Amino acid sequence: MDYDSIIIGAGLGGLTAAAKLAKEGQKVLVLEQHNVPGGCATTFQRRKFTVEVGLHEMDGFGENSFKKQIFDEFGVFDGVEFVRLPEFYRTVWKGADFVFPDNLEEAKNKLKKEFPDEADAIEKYFRFVTGLGKEINNLPRTKTQKRIKGPLFPLFYPKLVRSTLNTAAGFMDKLFHDERLKMILLSNASYYHDDPYELSMFYFAAGQNSYYSDGSYFIKGGSQKLSDYLADYIRKQGGEVLLNCEVSAILVENEKAAGVTYREKKKKGTTEIKIYAGQIIANAAIPLVARKLLSGESAHKLQQQTAKMKPGPSILTVYLGFKKPPKETGNQHYSTFIIDDSVKSIKDISENSHAGFDKRSFVFVDYGMIDSGLAPEGKATGVICTIDYASDWEDLDEKTYKGKKKEAGETLVSRLEKLLPGIKKTIEYQEVATPLTIARYTLNTGGTPYGFAQIPNQTAKKRLPVKSIVPGLYFASAWSSPGGGFTGAILSGYTCALKVLYDSHKEA
Ligand SMILES: Cc1cc2nc3c(=O)[nH]c(=O)nc-3n(C[C@H](O)[C@H](O)[C@H](O)COP(=O)(O)OP(=O)(O)OC[C@H]3O[C@@H](n4cnc5c(N)ncnc54)[C@H](O)[C@@H]3O)c2cc1C
Repeated sequence: MDYDSIIIGAGLGGLTAAAKLAKEGQKVLVLEQHNVPGGCATTFQRRKFTVEVGLHEMDGFGENSFKKQIFDEFGVFDGVEFVRLPEFYRTVWKGADFVFPDNLEEAKNKLKKEFPDEADAIEKYFRFVTGLGKEINNLPRTKTQKRIKGPLFPLFYPKLVRSTLNTAAGFMDKLFHDERLKMILLSNASYYHDDPYELSMFYFAAGQNSYYSDGSYFIKGGSQKLSDYLADYIRKQGGEVLLNCEVSAILVENEKAAGVTYREKKKKGTTEIKIYAGQIIANAAIPLVARKLLSGESAHKLQQQTAKMKPGPSILTVYLGFKKPPKETGNQHYSTFIIDDSVKSIKDISENSHAGFDKRSFVFVDYGMIDSGLAPEGKATGVICTIDYASDWEDLDEKTYKGKKKEAGETLVSRLEKLLPGIKKTIEYQEVATPLTIARYTLNTGGTPYGFAQIPNQTAKKRLPVKSIVPGLYFASAWSSPGGGFTGAILSGYTCALKVLYDSHKEA
């Protein structure tokens, strides 16, 4: 055996799993097909701009939060600087404007003042969401911690059970009457899923609680800093991280995942290299594992298990570099959700996700509002982002694809110009990334960065666990448990490593 664990992919899930395993003394190898680690958690350079690919905001670091404990363990706070955002977000809808404060009590009071008839319901909403956060923090995190199972579970975790059965919009409809209040609370639901009537209340409330209670953060210098830190940490613990190495197959021997074959992409004419390990951990998308990396009976089993699972949506991003910070053109907020006027109520959000770019709601993130470390002095970067789908871009010839991309960028920028007159003239760099761009750089099926859709029948126990049905094969990514986003992928990686360590200990 060449390694204890081989990790396919250096996204946050893969890097976190490898970091923990290497720290615990395992001999690990991470194989990444791209030329940088990070997957979606990455940046690229254009002129003098550092362009952030996949981070608008990351939820906070509550004292009892699992993520804070993981970062403390790896010393992340000593090597990576997190910048707290000035507010949660701003919503612009039907000419009305609401800025959601970065403080739970302030947010509650501001909402109660704006919607006095809904004051009791607002109190109940925040009590539920923060209560769910406490239940999650009290869940056992290791195999050896006491687990409550069976009929007693709902008694100890009532909010958790209720949240997994509800959708975010269904929950709002039961609690509130005012559509504007519901829209304000659901403005950033697109960070979780494209339809709030499908989005699991568990995912929405768990994430929102962390933002409400512990703030929102950006990584100074961009998310690549976190990915690079984790890759360096793995190497310092004796692990290896190889870039430009694409895994083409997972080898299953005696019905157990036993190794991989990979190809060094930069070396022309190189043959496939075969290596073996005790465990294989896929950070790569689970559908890719099922359809391309596995073969025979194990592929069939995983394809069957995932056949009915629905993937999440993808994203279209317009990356922007500004000659001068948008605040000089009148912008005052870090992130602004512009909900199109054709959206009359939260019931229209899902349909709007498929509307033309002249009507699709979008978020504008202005990194110039914080000390982001992304742009040279006196300049700034930003993004316009909207839900999108790979299927709308597939099968186009190159000319049509490029034309559609250009048009999408120009349409969205013109809509930003309406919000911030004069901003267009300050744009020095502009580039559009479609779902196919995400798919090309991360190999994520359908270009989704969220993994399987975060909907009630794919929540908690119904999601694929970190230990797969193929012996010796584990998952550590947004596609597995608990779910997508920076935090989801990091927790998945760490939980996966704990499971691998526990199983190896049992076998020894
Ligand atoms: C535009 C955009 C904005 C986002 N905004 C936010 C945000 O504000 N906040 C937030 O929390 N989350 C955000 N996300 C989501 C978040 O970035 C992802 O959910 C998370 O980073 C996914 O991590 P992951 O570990 O699942 O793997 P991924 O990032 O998907 O990485 C998988 C890695 O595996 C590699 N790989 C795949 N197949 C192979 C193979 N065969 N061989 C070798 N390597 C392979 C890929 O190259 C890739 O590096 C955003 C994502 C995008 C794209």
